[in-house]
Amino acid sequence: MARKSNTLAPETLAAQALRHIDPVSGSVVPPMVATSTFARDENYDLREGYVYARYGSPTTAHAEEIIATLEGADESLLLNSGMSASVAVVESLPPNAHVVAQSMMYHVGLHWLERQAQRGVIRKDLFPAGDLHALKAALIPGETKLVWIETPANGDWSITDIAAAAELAHSVGAVLMVDSTAAPPCTTKPLDLGADISFHSATKYMGGHSDFTAGVLSARKDMPLWDEIREVRSFQGTILPAFEAWLLIRSLRSLHIRYEACSRNAMAFARHFAAHKDIEAVLYPGLPDHPGHDVAARQMKNGFGGMMSIRVNGSARRAFEMAKRTEVFIPATSLGGVESLIEHRRTVAGADSGIPENLLRISIGIEHIDDLIADFEQALAATS
Ligand SMILES: *Cc1c(COP(=O)(O)O)cnc(C)c1O
Repeated sequence: MARKSNTLAPETLAAQALRHIDPVSGSVVPPMVATSTFARDENYDLREGYVYARYGSPTTAHAEEIIATLEGADESLLLNSGMSASVAVVESLPPNAHVVAQSMMYHVGLHWLERQAQRGVIRKDLFPAGDLHALKAALIPGETKLVWIETPANGDWSITDIAAAAELAHSVGAVLMVDSTAAPPCTTKPLDLGADISFHSATKYMGGHSDFTAGVLSARKDMPLWDEIREVRSFQGTILPAFEAWLLIRSLRSLHIRYEACSRNAMAFARHFAAHKDIEAVLYPGLPDHPGHDVAARQMKNGFGGMMSIRVNGSARRAFEMAKRTEVFIPATSLGGVESLIEHRRTVAGADSGIPENLLRISIGIEHIDDLIADFEQALAATS
């Protein structure tokens, strides 16, 4: 079974999947346990505590244990998408709870909050990402139950100070959830900074190979909503199945090295295009002129990741045309995979998203940096 150690580095523990060597075959890769139900023993007792796969199963629990180790959490819960993870948190709130979230963040999460507010399930207020004064003003003491931030945040990759947001949330009795999808635990550990829930779309960097969807929530002991969140997952049947959990274990082994490669490529890419005559702005927290750079440098300890947005000069439709012209960048949504993706974000997120027409969202992968720069240059040239 898994061996826990406080002395080994998280990279070591993840690379060896917590050193799970199969006791029967010696396989260094843990077996995938795909089953819907678990036989009781001769006394009619549960063997390892597992009853039925909708509540929990060994392969999923193994992946959860690895993520909890990386996050410095007491427990992690895996769900079958990032959306089902954030939905489970909102579902666990008391009736008519007040929720504060960012006006720019992952657009489907925002749509979900909007829908719940319209149905009278919650009340909500939004604040501009990164603006702590506006966050403070949006809080209602005793009534705000959840503060949901995302950093770096989808759209312009603005940065919110996690420790400061945690203090504000706690001052009114609210829980702070951090969507840290763009900053996996090898660079940011939200729980160490005071957050109550660290949330990831594990579809992205944690999965890293664009071959499944998953979401994960991590927390420390005594997090007030935790048991309710676990119940919601069981009611909704949204636990991550064994095959996806098995793929995720494979992925987590190389998380730190993939993230490092994406960060290195992205920094070189951002620097190259920041000074380019055809570029209006490169929005990347790793660049010193990004408004959130100083906070990012403090809370992203091992690289700024592969996510950036680029606003191009020229006609209104130039960015859209460029997204059709790249030959190395793949024109697809999502992020955090080994392959680089390009997206005309306004087309995907909608005209009401606040995303400018001339913005391209880019997820930098692990390809050779020269190929990525040359490809973007050729798309610029083809549309000039
Ligand atoms: C993709 C994403 C989500 C939603 O996750 P899914 O796995 O697609 O459901 C949430 N937050 C961020 C920042 C994302 O990029």
